[in-house]
Amino acid sequence: MKERLMTPGPVAVPAHVLAEQALPMVHHRSRHFRAAYDVLRGGLQQALGLGEGDVFLIPGSGTAAMEAAIVNLFSPGQRVLAVCNGFFGERWAAIAQTYGLDVERLDIPWGRPADPALVQERLAAQRAVAGVLVTFHETSTGVVSDLAALGEAVRPSGALLAVDAVSGLAISPLRMDEWGLDCVVSASQKGLASPPGIGIVALNGRAWAACESSTAGRFYLDLRRFRDASRTGITPSPWTPPITTIRAMQQSLQQLLAEGLETVYARQQRLAWAAQAGLEAMGLELLVAPPHRSQGVTVALAPQGITPREIVERMHDDWGVTMAGGIGPLAAKTLRIAHMGAVDLLDVIGTLFALEETLHRLGAPVEPGASARGIHAVIDGSGHEDS
Ligand code: PMP
Repeated sequence: MKERLMTPGPVAVPAHVLAEQALPMVHHRSRHFRAAYDVLRGGLQQALGLGEGDVFLIPGSGTAAMEAAIVNLFSPGQRVLAVCNGFFGERWAAIAQTYGLDVERLDIPWGRPADPALVQERLAAQRAVAGVLVTFHETSTGVVSDLAALGEAVRPSGALLAVDAVSGLAISPLRMDEWGLDCVVSASQKGLASPPGIGIVALNGRAWAACESSTAGRFYLDLRRFRDASRTGITPSPWTPPITTIRAMQQSLQQLLAEGLETVYARQQRLAWAAQAGLEAMGLELLVAPPHRSQGVTVALAPQGITPREIVERMHDDWGVTMAGGIGPLAAKTLRIAHMGAVDLLDVIGTLFALEETLHRLGAPVEPGASARGIHAVIDGSGHEDS
């Protein structure tokens, strides 16, 4: 049975990217490796919409990049506003708390985007807030927040805006300079269609100034060490980097850039529309209302009386499709179908048909075939999926 990975990270990785990892090992102090490393950093800067600034590759995952942002941008005792509208917004708050920041929470119901007006209101009501922490695509709920509007809401306060784009980079447009995002973190294993193992941290000039003056203790995640290595070191990374993962990610990003970022975003949008239309056509309710739905992951409520765990297990065992159940308070309620990485429209169509069959066999009032008609309505007229 063919395995299909329809999860929000790690994602299916193109064969030529995987093959890159099987090539003979190189040393990280070699000129060849530095060249690949620098090309990758430049490509990421392009994908992030960052002109003047720096992008660093942190050995680890997205959470390491989040931790690097907190520990470099802020000092213990400083106040930050954490927008908590899902599992990963909660993670921002938890990391900030761990490092002794004074965390002011802005709680927003899960499934709703960060509200720029509420952010602005909170900032106006507080004494000096050093930073605002938000999540771009909240992978736990499938909601996407409007970063341009959040940038405008935060700007008058002078606070730094730090964004978790772990599930958003290379999924939908990201414009650090234009939108006033001071720090963006991401990871290799989602929209970048690469293996896990690399966290990404991008900083503009304002974020760098904060980094220089932060009094927080840091060593491995000290971005000043990464900057010094990238400028003057024999090796571009202060520590031994995950060499093969970096080479794979560089290959994958090259392909995405060659395809064109706008084409990539349009492809993601079409996959998301197909997933949304198909799920609704089979009678499932989606957690997030348009126009706030993520282009990378779609979250549906499981039918009454059937647990997400049962569905996920049957989908895997009967059809070879790995999808995700819910997380946090949504664990027993939701199903998450991701459409990121090396997946195409046929993967989405096949997954939804398998889901209909699975739900039907589990006793839900679902008519197999309904999703295909829903997807047809969406793609009809918009041309064929071309990935
Ligand atoms: N933020 C978001 C939005 C995520 O989706 C994830 C991973 N699911 C993380 C942070 C954490 O990333 P990692 O698991 O790579 O540490």
